Amino acid sequence: MDETFDESIQEANQSAVVVGASLSGLMAGIALARSGLHVTILESAGAKPRSGAVLQVDSGDIDRTLTAKALRKLASGGMKSVEAWSSVQSRLRAEAKSHSKIDLRYDTRVQTVNQDNDSAWVMTDKGETFHGDILIGADGHRSTVRRHVAPHNPNATFAGYVIWVAIVDENVIPKEHRPNRNAPRVAMPDGIGDFLLGGIVAGTDGSHDLGHRRLGWAWYDNTQNDLLRRLGCVEGNVVRHSLNATDIPEQTLIELAEQASHRWPQPWLDAILYSIRTRNLTGTPIAEYVPDKLVKGRIAIVGDAAHVPTPLTASGFNASLQDAATLADCVAKGIQGIAATEALLEYESLRLKDVRQIVQSGQSFSRSFGR
Ligand SMILES: Cc1cc2nc3c(=O)[nH]c(=O)nc-3n(C[C@H](O)[C@H](O)[C@H](O)COP(=O)(O)OP(=O)(O)OC[C@H]3O[C@@H](n4cnc5c(N)ncnc54)[C@H](O)[C@@H]3O)c2cc1C
Repeated sequence: MDETFDESIQEANQSAVVVGASLSGLMAGIALARSGLHVTILESAGAKPRSGAVLQVDSGDIDRTLTAKALRKLASGGMKSVEAWSSVQSRLRAEAKSHSKIDLRYDTRVQTVNQDNDSAWVMTDKGETFHGDILIGADGHRSTVRRHVAPHNPNATFAGYVIWVAIVDENVIPKEHRPNRNAPRVAMPDGIGDFLLGGIVAGTDGSHDLGHRRLGWAWYDNTQNDLLRRLGCVEGNVVRHSLNATDIPEQTLIELAEQASHRWPQPWLDAILYSIRTRNLTGTPIAEYVPDKLVKGRIAIVGDAAHVPTPLTASGFNASLQDAATLADCVAKGIQGIAATEALLEYESLRLKDVRQIVQSGQSFSRSFGR
């Protein structure tokens, strides 16, 4: 066990249920287990690794606690700047799977959440019930757990634009267009009206050698809202789901390729055209959520369940990491009886102001860019 994690309640037989096994659920589960709790993590999706584009995993200078530093080292693999989303996820998964205090279950959708004075619990779509001394919602921007914690403010709101994201192997791009060794790892090329963020990350084998790296890109597009509504990705002002590659109409792909050719420089243009040609891209309608509550009794929310900033803030991962570390440090003092609710209230008091500010910092961009 990593000696940088608190083990103060190691001997007590206390437990947590975590809903969601994406980045914030895995980080929360790992931090809580290393604080001594028995943790059950429930994930509605299957065990097949998800893909994603790239994430900024630096900003380690905001890690004030040993738990946060240890989580960052684990999640980022020591990388500074940008990392492939899938690499971060696979490190966290490997850690969660190998931890003796973590029971990680896939294909398990939580349907209802409840609590009394002694415990909190969930019911799943298979009719199973899981109890814990505390329950943590890490179930993303459409959180079920948030409905219990903040029934007066249950939904994240559509920000009025979609982000097309993909990641491609560098070797699919002609050699003359590949970035050189000294190219910046993060790029924001000038476009006409839209925004593009590009990131150069290691290959799937971890190599940063030329020809072995990957290029991740995220294109902010405010012209697809009718399409998103027609396909049910957005209903009213609520985001229902992402637009998977197979569901993107052919005509939309043709138009995207045409716009990209006018807008984006190399190597991003080739990366985008390859993703379009091979239908290896996802449209993510962007939602935002400013919380006024993170906790109710024995139940708390973390990550995108708790706060959804526009990805332009590049802060969702960092905020999720700080949530997990703060939560684990608060509960490490013990969660016997009433101490559970006190520990969660302390978590809320330490995080609420910061996470509200993070979301609000991106809202002026969304108000001017979104439609
Ligand atoms: C396009 C895009 C680009 C981004 N770029 C950046 C960036 O550069 N830097 C950065 O810091 N952040 C970025 N973010 C945000 C960042 O990815 C998230 O903030 C971070 O990964 C935390 O997500 P999460 O784990 O809280 O939620 P999610 O990744 O949404 O995970 C929620 C999990 O809960 C599961 N789940 C949902 N409901 C249930 C249920 N009822 N029962 C069981 N399981 C359930 C889901 O299947 C999912 O696995 C970006 C986000 C997007 C969309």
